Amino acid sequence: MYRLATRLGLGGWVLNTSENVQICLSGETEQLRHFIQLLRVEAPAASRIENIKVTEREYEAFTKFSIHSSHDIPGEITEISPDIAVCNECLADIEKPGSRLDYAFVNCTNCGPRFTIIRDLPYDRARTTMQTFAMCSDCREEYEDILDRRFHAQPTACEQCGPRYELFINGEKTTSDTGIIIEKISEYLADGGVALMRGLGGMHLACDAFNAAAVSRLREIKKRDGKPFALMFRDLETLKQYTEMSPEEEESLLSWRRPIVLLKLKGREGFTPGINSGLDLLGVMLPYMPLHYLLFSQLKTNAIVLTSGNFSSEPILIDNDEALRQFSSSTDAILLHNRDIYNRTDDSVVRIIGGKERVIRRSRGYVPSPVNTILNTEGILAFGAELTNTFCVGRGRKAFLSQHIGDLQGLETSIFYEQTMARFLKLFRVNPTLLAVDMHPAYISTRAALQFGDLPLVRVQHHHAHIASCMAEHGLDEKVIGIALDGTGYGDDGHTWGSEFMICDLAGYTRITHFEYLPMPGGDMASEEPWRMAVSWLFKVFGKDLISLDLPLFREIDPEKIELLLQMIIQKVNCPLTSGAGRLFDAVASLLGICQTATFQAEGPMRLEAMVINGFKEAYSYEPSDVICFDATLRAMVADITTGTDPKIIATKFHNTIISVIFETANAIRSQKKINKVVLSGGVFQNKYLLEGALSLLKENDFEVYAHAAIPTNDGGIALGQLAVASKRREIKCV
Ligand code: ZN
Ligand code: ZN
Ligand code: FE
Repeated sequence: MYRLATRLGLGGWVLNTSENVQICLSGETEQLRHFIQLLRVEAPAASRIENIKVTEREYEAFTKFSIHSSHDIPGEITEISPDIAVCNECLADIEKPGSRLDYAFVNCTNCGPRFTIIRDLPYDRARTTMQTFAMCSDCREEYEDILDRRFHAQPTACEQCGPRYELFINGEKTTSDTGIIIEKISEYLADGGVALMRGLGGMHLACDAFNAAAVSRLREIKKRDGKPFALMFRDLETLKQYTEMSPEEEESLLSWRRPIVLLKLKGREGFTPGINSGLDLLGVMLPYMPLHYLLFSQLKTNAIVLTSGNFSSEPILIDNDEALRQFSSSTDAILLHNRDIYNRTDDSVVRIIGGKERVIRRSRGYVPSPVNTILNTEGILAFGAELTNTFCVGRGRKAFLSQHIGDLQGLETSIFYEQTMARFLKLFRVNPTLLAVDMHPAYISTRAALQFGDLPLVRVQHHHAHIASCMAEHGLDEKVIGIALDGTGYGDDGHTWGSEFMICDLAGYTRITHFEYLPMPGGDMASEEPWRMAVSWLFKVFGKDLISLDLPLFREIDPEKIELLLQMIIQKVNCPLTSGAGRLFDAVASLLGICQTATFQAEGPMRLEAMVINGFKEAYSYEPSDVICFDATLRAMVADITTGTDPKIIATKFHNTIISVIFETANAIRSQKKINKVVLSGGVFQNKYLLEGALSLLKENDFEVYAHAAIPTNDGGIALGQLAVASKRREIKCV
């Protein structure tokens, strides 16, 4: 504001309040209009103008433009910015001679680290991990010059005074000269080496994405299952040679948040299956730190694998000594820097579905921006789910969802969970008065809440939380038709739910119908071995005759194992009942012979989705009655498989069947209960074909449909839903 007003020669003042920014200007009408126009055009990339309201007031002849001190409402909190990808002006700075030439920690008020370095509020350098670096006189001058791009840029630094990189080979420090470091790392990567590099929110492991041997070595180092790796490409133009790209996908890739975007590969040429298990979906991102740009200026390859530096199941590593201890012998080079990471973040993951960005993993670039709710969230602490965990704290009407924490079953992850929770409470000045948890008695998050202290506790059914999360995201507080298609979640009846059609509001729900229960032989083992659900379902429909069916499953799985499983089902040993939609997708993947044993979470459903033929409309029949029964679907599918129908057609017909079920069930509920709003949530809606199909069919039939965008539809969004339900129950005095 100051720079713009001064440039246009306008007098007046600007003031921050906790609700908005107020500007008072005097001048010719034309000039004032010009100011407002430029305000929109020149606003920093990471800022967001919700609206500009203009009112006239009594004329005052200002001689200059000044910044008034903020109206601080006591106890009111300021939001914390997420980390911002390096801006073009800073990238230009590292090419100019001077103290920022090739300097990898360049930043300004428009870019650079934020959340990852902030220890406390208010946000100034002394409360960040930049505190240990005393500004040199040149940096200080820019920092204090209101007309400078680095005016009050808290992490500002240069070669003279700021953080630096150091290269370690075999655990020994070798050099801190950026030029040499970039040259060396590039050489290692070109020779098929693997490097560990400290980034913005944690360590990354990197190798040449087109070198199959390097990729498989990286997978070994990480002790990682088959979970797809993310790739960083040199630039947008290069990336376009390899993947399809819509304007929305392009926008997400280039946004200052720089997430990993899931894109469809044009072909697999040059890509080893080891990158992403041979899927046609690839997680890609563009450079976002100065270091990435410096690297690509030397690298010949167009893309590197850039995956979190940790052993799988552990959180992303942030400690330098640990990095050296764990990875010195297995990697070729370790690149560390001395700017502490206070809040660790993973790279965020998004997918464009229905023309909108849908956040799948919410971390760097997104956190800790709050969700602005219409509820009183004050003092509520929601503990989240168990896998893909995040937690959520409430302040005023805002809900602060934590960064992706991960699977709490790992010891390191649960330490990260507790530490981050303590930090969020302190950072956002939240004094918990009400706790919200999943109904599952054995969740680590639930147990953490019970140990937290003697506070009132609200237990929220998992799928109600999913729907409430989507409602909170969209500011809904009324009765809706909630459709949660999910993997698993603890149900009221003690069974494992996951395909719930409910009438609900934020306070409670009535379960109207669901997919028919099936035994889940071996419990959680069934999500890792899709063939178990296939056998369970086949047994229900065909009885012991299933053995004589000509299905890939019976050629790929040891008959003894199948017999053993059948005994478990018959004798009801370790066979909890499930209505989980995810398990049905697993079963179909097994039937089609594309995934008997998953090497990463949701592999079966992902492979199944990859087979879908767009534009093919046929579907299978099913029986809607008290519960939704798919026996007819299975019979038809088995007939299709045994008569040699193209598996792609079968996969598509199955998807279309589920889309019909969503629409027809919603329609039946609407005609009975006269509710027109449908809220979709749950992990299954990460499936692009399914969500797009359901959205368009429902909209064509005049439903008002809501699906997640900014908040994950998977268990990463559960905590927000728990918080919303707790808030509502407190409001109606039902805690
Ligand atoms: Zn910048
Ligand atoms: Zn400096
Ligand atoms: Fe879930």
